[in-house]
Amino acid sequence: MKKSVYSICGMCTVRCPIRVESENNKVTWIEGNQHILGGALCAKGSAGPALVADTERPRQPLIREGGRGAGRWQKVSWPTALDYISNKLLKIKAEHGAESVVLSSRGGPWQNMYKTFIHAFGSPNYTNHDNTCGRNTHHASLSLNGVGIKGFIYDIKNAKHLVLFGRNMFASLRIGENLQTMKMLENGGKLTYVDVRQTMTGLKADRFFQVRPGTDYALILAMIHEIIRRDAYDSTFIDRYVTGFDELSYFVEQYSPAWAAKECGIKEKSIHAFIDEIIPVMPKVIFHPGWNLSRYKDSFYASRGLHILNILMGNIEQRGGLIIPKGPGDCGVKSIRGLDCPKPDIKRADGVGWKYKHFDKGPGLAHLFFNAMETEDPYPIKAWIAMRHDPFCGMPDPQRQKIAFDHCDLLVSIDTHYSEFGWYSDVILPEST
Ligand code: SF4
Repeated sequence: MKKSVYSICGMCTVRCPIRVESENNKVTWIEGNQHILGGALCAKGSAGPALVADTERPRQPLIREGGRGAGRWQKVSWPTALDYISNKLLKIKAEHGAESVVLSSRGGPWQNMYKTFIHAFGSPNYTNHDNTCGRNTHHASLSLNGVGIKGFIYDIKNAKHLVLFGRNMFASLRIGENLQTMKMLENGGKLTYVDVRQTMTGLKADRFFQVRPGTDYALILAMIHEIIRRDAYDSTFIDRYVTGFDELSYFVEQYSPAWAAKECGIKEKSIHAFIDEIIPVMPKVIFHPGWNLSRYKDSFYASRGLHILNILMGNIEQRGGLIIPKGPGDCGVKSIRGLDCPKPDIKRADGVGWKYKHFDKGPGLAHLFFNAMETEDPYPIKAWIAMRHDPFCGMPDPQRQKIAFDHCDLLVSIDTHYSEFGWYSDVILPEST
């Protein structure tokens, strides 16, 4: 029997709306939801049927037989695997406290389910992959705007100029945003792309600044410098909403386009030409502050700089600018996300929220648990359940991580495939696709 159902792609963080066709319970076709994405989908999403049909992914629970990472597994039934995990967890809870269990997940719309489990068990230690994804730009936004990465959405379709720093959106990212960008270009909008390498997005851009690696922040500082020097910023917005503008002006005085040109390896006159072009179309200019902006010391400041440029454009809550998303709370209704179990009132083992007060609590920072594993400070960590999350692939130095994870009595991987972490775990539970 043929069926057509609407669903959500789970192959990456974006979770595009999709339409899936199946015949006799086998997926035969996946495309973007016609009503929202006009049928478009990226290569990963289109490859969804291959994941479902993959006979080499875990198809039943496995319990480790040999040493960790030796690759010797016993196939077991679901009740056997769940009993094994429950008994271990209860023993760990009795010996070290419930807080010694960490659960990490991919995050996303289902995370409240995972949080409910770990919080109900008695541990505050839920975390996710975000320490190696959007946390950097999240904290950058938070430090300036008081709201994090999800505090703005981008009205790209109605913008006149979009500026992307290393955001190779046309390669395989955010179909909806890509369609908006294509629409903007069709309507005569411009795209400026900044990267150390040429990409699919750079090829479609009107201007490509190929900067030297590690100098994107220099270019951003020069843009801020020049907008302020020319008095081109939205002074009404600045007067009303911004503090510290004089300090900013003083700080960027030294970072002229001539200075940045030498740092970045691009022409000074190209920076001026870019500024000439954006001023007449303000506030419909969007500087995308990045999501996973390349990680090095300056990237936090680069993201802050891009937020500052948006503020100078006066594009907040403007058509073709940055819009503050509205949610159920804006009409006095509680969000469905409020349904999870209250978090136990215990300090997080990663130190976020008490030792590191400047970080947003949220899912904490996964890499900061390794120290707690090794030192048992503030308390021991004895179990880690990774749900659609691969710490070894997501974070640096897997060998070092293994030394830390060896302090745990239980490692569980719940995933659609054999991850690196799964291979090192004690139990693998096959996750539904
Ligand atoms: S961008 Fe691609 S992989 Fe990600 S959710 Fe959309 S279709 Fe799926």
